[in-house]
Amino acid sequence: MAKSQTPMMKQYYEIKEKYADAFLFYRVGDFYELFEEDAVLGAKLLELTLTYRNKNTENKIPMAGMPHHAIRNYIDSLVDKGYKVAICDQVEDPKDAQGMVKREVVQLITPGTMMDEKPEQATQNNYLTSVIFGKEEYGLSYSDLATGEVQTTHFNSFEEVFNELLSLQTKEVIWLGELNQNQQSVLKKANILVSSPVTEAQGESEQEFVVQRITNQSELTATRQLIQYIVATQKRQLAHLQIAKSYEAKSYLQMSHVVKQNLEIIQSSKTHKKMGSLYWLMDKTKTAMGSRLLKQWLERPLVLEKDVLYRQNMVQALLDDFFTREEISDALKNVYDLERLTGRVAFGNINGRQMRQLGQSLSQVPKIIQLLDSSDDEILQNYADDIVDLSDLGQKIMTAIVDDPPIAITEGSLIKEGYDKQLDDYYHAMHNGTKWLADLERKEKEATGIPSLKIGYNKVFGYYLEVTNTHKDKVPERYERKQTLSNAERYLTPELKEMQTLILQAQTNSVDYQYQLFVTLRDEVKNHIELLQQLSHSISALDVLTSFSILAEDKRLVRPELTNNQVIDVQDGRHPVVEAVLENDQYIPNNIEMGEDINIFLITGPNMSGKSTYMRQLALIAIMNQVGSFVPASSAKLPIFDKVFTRIGAADDLISGQSTFMVEMNEANQALKNATAKSLILFDEIGRGTATYDGMSLAGAIIKYLHQKVGAKTLFATHYHELTSLEQQLPHLKNVHVGASEKDGKLIFLHKIIAGPADQSYGIHVAKLAGLPEEVINQANEMLLEFENQDDHQNIQINDNQLDLFTPEAVVDKTQTDVLTNVDSDIIDEIKSISLMNKTPFEL
Ligand code: ADP
Repeated sequence: MAKSQTPMMKQYYEIKEKYADAFLFYRVGDFYELFEEDAVLGAKLLELTLTYRNKNTENKIPMAGMPHHAIRNYIDSLVDKGYKVAICDQVEDPKDAQGMVKREVVQLITPGTMMDEKPEQATQNNYLTSVIFGKEEYGLSYSDLATGEVQTTHFNSFEEVFNELLSLQTKEVIWLGELNQNQQSVLKKANILVSSPVTEAQGESEQEFVVQRITNQSELTATRQLIQYIVATQKRQLAHLQIAKSYEAKSYLQMSHVVKQNLEIIQSSKTHKKMGSLYWLMDKTKTAMGSRLLKQWLERPLVLEKDVLYRQNMVQALLDDFFTREEISDALKNVYDLERLTGRVAFGNINGRQMRQLGQSLSQVPKIIQLLDSSDDEILQNYADDIVDLSDLGQKIMTAIVDDPPIAITEGSLIKEGYDKQLDDYYHAMHNGTKWLADLERKEKEATGIPSLKIGYNKVFGYYLEVTNTHKDKVPERYERKQTLSNAERYLTPELKEMQTLILQAQTNSVDYQYQLFVTLRDEVKNHIELLQQLSHSISALDVLTSFSILAEDKRLVRPELTNNQVIDVQDGRHPVVEAVLENDQYIPNNIEMGEDINIFLITGPNMSGKSTYMRQLALIAIMNQVGSFVPASSAKLPIFDKVFTRIGAADDLISGQSTFMVEMNEANQALKNATAKSLILFDEIGRGTATYDGMSLAGAIIKYLHQKVGAKTLFATHYHELTSLEQQLPHLKNVHVGASEKDGKLIFLHKIIAGPADQSYGIHVAKLAGLPEEVINQANEMLLEFENQDDHQNIQINDNQLDLFTPEAVVDKTQTDVLTNVDSDIIDEIKSISLMNKTPFEL
């Protein structure tokens, strides 16, 4: 590649070689230049003008440049598109350089290490993930560079790892180990950039600190790899990286990414935006860090009763004490993103404004502590004890930084008068100087009799006296002419020269010194990083818990009672999001009563009657319960679930590109294999994606399997009316249906769940209401009767022996490594083979 060998290009090629997979932003004077392929592609992606170095020679080199102050947007744009950007700066003053100016890459910005400045990103974490495939086990570790949080876990299969990457919405994964073609393409389709680990030793002290509590070997390796990469790309000390926390999937309510999507926990499944999700509904937090924490809680609801109870007690206490709640909520409005501001302090990119935000936030803390302390509730008083008071530090920041500082920290106007003696001296000199100049102007006006005489300033000559041409003849001898303009002359006098030196000196000194003071203050704050992180956490959690109590009041939620015999008793339950979007209290509440002896509700009813809403309602109530929130109902008794499984809706799995029916079977399979008696399963219209008898038989077999082998609480909606006869065989199954009625020739959905199966001829009834010709309706009724008499589907029989095809091995076989593409065909084959009337081939 090295065709041009000017010293600069030689240096460029040497550096570029080390950053082959990144755009190299190479600083030349006031510009950053891209060369060669970077320039060609960059010009296209960033709409830059493509030019050439040595244009008319054989050695012409493509080139595209950006002014140095404008690169932020260009970087954002490239990194958003999944590229990396290496910033190569001049690391010595060109004046001091002997020969070529030394240049180095000072930071490598990648999708996972990007710290977004856009306000809409404030409530989102950007997680960089590291994965290693060790001895039959995957170690996974992730961090958000903006907050310094590090978490780590381990898994047995690629599928679990992939699921976690999706849940974390990670944009970049550092991967050590083999990735087969399928895995590569799955990651690519999910827009996850795969980066290679850094090989040279980096950031050892950070590594030691972060990994100190990790015991699992795969987690340890993955975390070291993560920190190594972060330090190597950011090229600075990172004091805010926190001690890694190990977590296990089973320490939380387990839900796959697909389940979270189906239930619209974090995002609406239609728009992929927060709006319309449970997170959206529940988010009454006042701080960005609180909002991020709520999201984390929703991603990982609790499974330990004591943890749920603690949060419930806090919510209850805040709900009961209106005054404290309102005041805390008000105080929180004045708290900025402490967590990220702390990160900036450590990272060294905090500016004056943000430093003041930090100061202001810290100054709010005593008020919050005092509010909690003076409440009557012991739990709130105890909470106060855990909040670190750093208001002295806050105060110091507030006395140091001016009220409205500029963005730059190197250009002065940053530190208040009265903060530092030395700086005050400079300020004094500057102030005196200004006064002296004003006096001089007045004095000279009088002495010369030139009324328009004025003192001005420019960068080249400094201060000067300016006289317009009209008065040129009145200029005294002692004026030394410096510059001639078209309509005026500029002069210096010896005393002006002398004073000028003093003033300018004071100004330069003050600017340099203010920067020094700022850095000293920043270092002082940096010494408090761990306490600041602790404080951020207690304030964020308080924000979320306060948000829960505000929600409880606004949305008329009740405190659920926890049961430990898997009994569900929800009275007047509501789907909170559907309720919120319906106008004027149109939502019809429904009860869900599943005693110890009932595990399966078989739900029938016409389309659009509310079956799916009813099922989701229970799942959302369960999740709200397990994050510690109150729930939308008039009363609720709920068990703590260990896992949630769903098969809802018809959304194809776009990422792995499977057919709807395959996805449907895959999800069903996950539930059949992994659910326990403590799980919650929602199956909506299973078997719909294939021929009627096939589908119906599959659905029936699945129900029976769940009933006999799993025992999970299951809501099973179906349009196969024939399945309702299973109630006679299966003691733990109960038929329910959604009521509908006809009024003035219109079909009215009552959205009310009623015991017993739905009326079978409903379809024909709806057709009649839709105005189909009477002849068709009559014919349909006749045919229905015939079918019923012929097949007697009302009493569908499922042979027990055939069911035993689900061997116990199949149930415990959890060693799938590639389920995404290589679906557990055994189970599906087994299910297929028990289809009673499997005449139609599957179209898979
Ligand atoms: P199904 O699953 O039976 O086809 P859905 O659960 O999708 O029906 O409900 C269809 C629509 O009916 C929902 O979008 C909602 O607007 C409305 N709906 C459902 N349940 C209720 C309810 N309990 N109260 C009021 N409206 C409801």
